[in-house]
Amino acid sequence: MIVDLHTHTTASDGGLSPLELVQRARERGVQLLAVTDHDTVAGFAALQAEAGDDLQLLAGIELSCTWSGVNIHVLGLGIDINNPAFVAELAGQRNARDSRAQVIAQRLDKLGFEGSYAAAAELAAGRAIGRPDFARFLVAQGHVDSMASAFDKYLGSGKLGDIKAVWPALAEVVRWIREAGGVAVIAHPLQYKMTNAKLRRMLAEFKDVGGEGLEVCNGRPSPQDLGYLRQLCQQFDLEASAGSDFHHPSSWSELGCEAKIVAPCKPVWDRWQAQ
Ligand code: AMP
Ligand code: MN
Ligand code: MN
Ligand code: MN
Repeated sequence: MIVDLHTHTTASDGGLSPLELVQRARERGVQLLAVTDHDTVAGFAALQAEAGDDLQLLAGIELSCTWSGVNIHVLGLGIDINNPAFVAELAGQRNARDSRAQVIAQRLDKLGFEGSYAAAAELAAGRAIGRPDFARFLVAQGHVDSMASAFDKYLGSGKLGDIKAVWPALAEVVRWIREAGGVAVIAHPLQYKMTNAKLRRMLAEFKDVGGEGLEVCNGRPSPQDLGYLRQLCQQFDLEASAGSDFHHPSSWSELGCEAKIVAPCKPVWDRWQAQ
């Protein structure tokens, strides 16, 4: 079976519209697809009618939050996108993104890179502003020569654009997801550059507050990373998830993951697979 429980569309920082994403997923043989845009479910609303016998669709989200000074991403899978409390919290996430964008722009102004807020807002064209919009501005202005270098120098972890204070706590977003009937999953656990001890502390607390899943496979992991994450998943008695983290057709990760890649962990998709 081929699954993909972590994907992005133009509703956040992805390059394909929700419909194009579903079309590409079908072409790649994906049988269970979750759309997990950053802090929004806007992409999913138009998709419900697109599911069919060959492809099961799951409403999802990738929520930004903080834990112990680190910006963590939590996937919410199988949520009710019309849950009123959840919808209200997402309005808060959008405000947080806008406040963050203003702070990032002020900091870039101080470096002499002026006009970034207006440029990022124009690139966002109505959706919430993300760091990739600032990265695109920095590339377009010739301040850096690539998106990767924009993140390395200015926007990535520990750099001036890495602002955590605006985000809710990990326990909060887990609560929102659960209240909307979804399953909370820690996304890409090895992208936070935490020590093993700190990652374990985070997983213990995540589990404690109701978190149920770990993204064992994100994109195309090395055998070492896979082995380590399978082990953590079992140790903390979490359900395993797998997703490409697809953003653009031209980028490093294509849609679709072999379900068996998470074995011997218990797969989170057992919950939604047609019996
Ligand atoms: P945000 O959601 O606004 O905090 O922006 C984070 C997003 O930026 C991630 O989800 C990626 O899509 C993108 N991103 C992070 N690091 C890099 C990088 N080094 N190069 C390109 N894009 C990146
Ligand atoms: Mn992204
Ligand atoms: Mn992420
Ligand atoms: Mn993602």
